[in-house]
Formats: sequence, structure tokens, C-alpha cells
Amino acid sequence: MAASLPLDPAHRPTKPRLVILGSGWGATSLLKNIDTAKYEVVVVSPTNYFLFTPLLPSATVGTIELRSLIEPMRRMLKRIDGRFIECEASDIDFDRCTVRIQDKSGHTADLPYDKLVIAVGSTTHNMGVPGVEHCHQLKTFSDAASIRHKIMDNFERAALPTTSPEERARLLSFVVCGGGPTGVEFAAELHEFLTEDLVNYFPEIPVSDVRMSIIQSQDHILNTYDRIISEYAEKHLKSTSIDIVTRSRVTRVEPDHIVVKRKGPDGKLLNEETILPFGLCLWSTGIGMRPLVRKAKEHLGEAQQKARALATDNQLRVRGVPAENVYAIGDCASIENPRLLDRIVEFFVDADTNKDGVLDRQEFARLGEELKRKYPHTTEHLNKLNALFDEFDVDHSGTLDKQELRVMLESIDRQMTALPATAQVASQQGKYMARKLNKLSDHAKYASAVGYVFPRDEEANDPFNYRHLGSLAYIGNAAVADFGAGRAYTGGWVGKYLWRGAYWNEQISLRTRVLLSIDWAKELLFGRDISRA
Ligand SMILES: Cc1cc2nc3c(=O)[nH]c(=O)nc-3n(C[C@H](O)[C@H](O)[C@H](O)COP(=O)(O)OP(=O)(O)OC[C@H]3O[C@@H](n4cnc5c(N)ncnc54)[C@H](O)[C@@H]3O)c2cc1C
Repeated sequence: MAASLPLDPAHRPTKPRLVILGSGWGATSLLKNIDTAKYEVVVVSPTNYFLFTPLLPSATVGTIELRSLIEPMRRMLKRIDGRFIECEASDIDFDRCTVRIQDKSGHTADLPYDKLVIAVGSTTHNMGVPGVEHCHQLKTFSDAASIRHKIMDNFERAALPTTSPEERARLLSFVVCGGGPTGVEFAAELHEFLTEDLVNYFPEIPVSDVRMSIIQSQDHILNTYDRIISEYAEKHLKSTSIDIVTRSRVTRVEPDHIVVKRKGPDGKLLNEETILPFGLCLWSTGIGMRPLVRKAKEHLGEAQQKARALATDNQLRVRGVPAENVYAIGDCASIENPRLLDRIVEFFVDADTNKDGVLDRQEFARLGEELKRKYPHTTEHLNKLNALFDEFDVDHSGTLDKQELRVMLESIDRQMTALPATAQVASQQGKYMARKLNKLSDHAKYASAVGYVFPRDEEANDPFNYRHLGSLAYIGNAAVADFGAGRAYTGGWVGKYLWRGAYWNEQISLRTRVLLSIDWAKELLFGRDISRA
């Protein structure tokens, strides 16, 4: 007998239903680790595949084929006996515990859940700049395909004898708005394509006729990386004749040019405008909210104060959902950690075990360990407890009074920053969610009137703790890696192959590993494909 569909009225729960919205990094990491003996897993996503985004810039120039970067969801779900629904989640009813799903023809249905994980990622943020719709973006399979097509289109048109010199110059101008990893990697890949392949097949277009610019509003490109890395990347890219325009903002985009204003010494924009014509402009500045996320935030009202994401607590539960059965992970979520300072009185009273009104080293060490356990995001700042004690014991009394502890907690609170929107964060959160859900289900009980009842998350698991394993970026026959705490790696050919090795290793299946290896071998032997197919 065929298994009943998740929406079938005859469907009777034999185990709690876990609905996952999205088929990206967060969702697949959860799927790889969830115990499907404990949950009926249903994935809802408008894309029926997982996309390996870090190598998307390589696919825009044909270093690798786009299909080598995707893994079908149904293939993944077959292994774990999960269900896939190719729909967009358009709304969530947090009281009835249902998700409104909508197929490509606009038909809708309501899908009930016992536990819901929102992992719908993000959109590109237009930063309020008019005309961004004239730019390309690089987030999806079709974005990369259309960039690849456009590059070849521009070169073929520029090579036509009927094209005017002005039009030719415009067609061969490539502008990247945003000096983050995506923009930098795209510029680097494009430059490699130009100098290693196109130059051989377009004798009528000398390399010097092609102009590439990166516009960055900050002082440096890759500004979230260690300073050594951004400086190395800038030097490397400038040596390849990519124009790096820092401290400048794009104020308007027209169909064939952008308008740029420089920042003055005080950070304010100067009046003078520079016009940069483009044949292709990539917009890659920051991330924005998906419509579903915006709607969910509206439903949850006051509890949702974060500007560009769903606010969660440190158990990744979406704030403001009374049933505490909805979680958000990855780019669409942001953890709202409690401020340590708000609880100073409680911390101080509990830690001061001998009640002498000050904390000695032992009392402070116990408090430090307790804080690390309850608030894992503070671990990095509480690792060197003795040094911290000495730094904030300003009167050198060998003890900390309440005022000294206050200054210390204030300083730690200030250093807490939001987690970056990366695959690494989404992956770790997906894995954390799977482990927690596996544990929670052990104690779930079914009651016919209310459905499955779970224990509180705190009883099953510690809060989420992110471990930074390093950020990589490819800068064209060289790569950089930032491992945090001032540990950085910059390297040429060795870096390039280490970078490739790292992503080969990260592949989600043997199939994509094989496809990637073939693509890299093809590129080495025959160069990149330059057909405008
Ligand atoms: C070009 C590029 C390069 C990158 N390079 C790196 C890198 O080198 N290292 C790194 O750590 N990070 C990198 N990132 C960032 C990384 O891709 C994201 O942080 C990561 O994808 C976030 O994972 P996620 O699960 O939150 O969202 P995504 O992976 O974006 O997945 C979101 C999923 O939700 C689906 N969806 C959208 N709307 C709905 C809806 N309404 N209902 C249901 N499903 C929906 C989408 O189809 C998609 O399947 C890169 C991103 C890009 C675009």
C-alpha cells in the first residue's frame, strides 16, 4: 500500500511530524543528523535540490558546471525515508501549528506540524539604492546560469565589427558592487577566465580593453576578515588590474551605468558623482529578509525586535511562539542572547558564597564556569579567567566588588556580535537542532486531544554554541583563510588547491565529489567552455 501523503486526512501520526522549511545548508545539515525513526520528516521548499553556494562564483565562468553543485532533495530524503513537497511556505499559523504551502500554480494547503524548523535563507539586500533590478545577483542556480550567459553574450557582441567603440567599452566593463567574499570571488574567477581562456579565443579583444571594478563602501575589501587578509587580497587583485574602489557608495543604478559617490574623511558622502558604465553589474551587498520571514515577524509582534531576521533565543527557538515548537536557523535567523549585565545582582549573590560582599578568585572562577555553561556564546571571552580577573580588579584588592564585576560584564556584552550569515553557521545550527530534536523525542508523549507533548528544550540540551572553524575566500590562483583570533593564512597555488580540497571534502555526496573532480580535470586539460549555450 502506498504511504499516505502528509496532507491526507486519513493520516494518523505514529510519530511526531517535523516540518523543515528550506533545502539549503541549515536544512540539509539537520537532515543528515536527524533520526527518522523518531520523526516523520517533511521538507517544504520551492527548490527540489541543495545548492553548494561557496562554489557558485566558479560556476559563473564555467570552471565547474552548475549541475555539479546540486544534490536532489528526493535522493537525500529517500535515504532517510523523508517526504518532500515542492512548494513555498507562504505563511505560518503559530496557534494552529500549520504552515500554509503554495505550489507554483498558486494552489495552497495547510500542513500541520509538531515541530517546525524555518531555514529559508535570505535575499540580497538592495540597501535602498534605486535601480538595483538592473544588476545581476548571485544566490541561486539560475543567477549563476544567467551571469555565465551574459558574460559570453557581452564578449561576442563586443567582438562584432558592427559594435561602436563606446558600446564595446561598455560591454567589456564588469562592475561588482560589494567587496565581501561573493563579490571578490566572482571578480577573481572572471579575471582568471579572461586571462586563461577568453584571451585565446577573442584575438580582437586585448585583455587591456576589459575593465573590472569592485566598489566597496568600507576602507577595505573582505573587511570582516583579518586585516592581513584584506590587505593581501587587495594587493593580489590590484596586481591583476582589477580596480578596487573603497570608501565609496553606489547611489543609483541605471540600465547601463552606476553612479558612485566617494566618502569624505568624516565618512559622509561627497557631492561629486562618478559615472561607471557597465556591461554586467553584480550586486552583492548584504542580506535581506524573505517575505515569509517578514510575515512571521509581523504575526509575532513585540517579541521580534531584530531588523533583518527572525529573533531566536539561544536554544534557536523563535521568540514569541507560545508553544515553543518553532525554530529558525541559518541566514533567516539571529540569536538574541540575554545581556549578562541585566542579571548582575543574581550572579553576584549566587557567586558570593561566603557572603563577604566581594568575589575572590575561587568564587569568580566558579561564576565564570557557570556563565560559560549557561551562555556558551561568552566562552571565548571567559576562557582566561585569571587574566580577566586581574584586568578588572582595578583597585588590586585581590577581589572583585560589584562595580568591578559590572564593568567586566558590560565589556563582555559589548563584544558580543551577531553570528555571520554563512554556510558554516547554518550547518552547525542544523546539526545542533537534529541532536536536540532526537533527544526531545525520547521524552515526547502523545495525547489524543493535544497531540505530541515534548519536554522543554532546556531539559534536553545546552544552548547552541558556535565554533568558528575558519572562513575561506578564493582570490584568483590564490586563496585566503581566516581562523579567527588573528590566525590567518594567505597563499598562492598551494592556497588554491587547499581551498579546492576543503570544498571537495565538504561535498554533500560522493556523486558531487566525482562531478567536481571531473570538472576541475576538464578545466585543466581543455580550459573552460566558452560557448554561449
Ligand atoms: C555566492 C555565494 C557564496 C557563498 N560562499 C560561502 C562560503 O564560502 N562559506 C560560507 O560559509 N558561506 C558562504 N555563503 C553563504 C551561505 O551560502 C549561506 O550563509 C547559507 O546558504 C545559509 O544557509 P541557509 O540554510 O540559511 O539558507 P540557504 O542555503 O540559502 O537555503 C534556503 C532554502 O530555503 C528555500 N526557501 C526560500 N524561500 C522559501 C519558502 N518561502 N519556503 C520554503 N523554502 C524556501 C530556498 O529554496 C533554499 O533551499 C555564500 C553564499 C553565496 C550566495
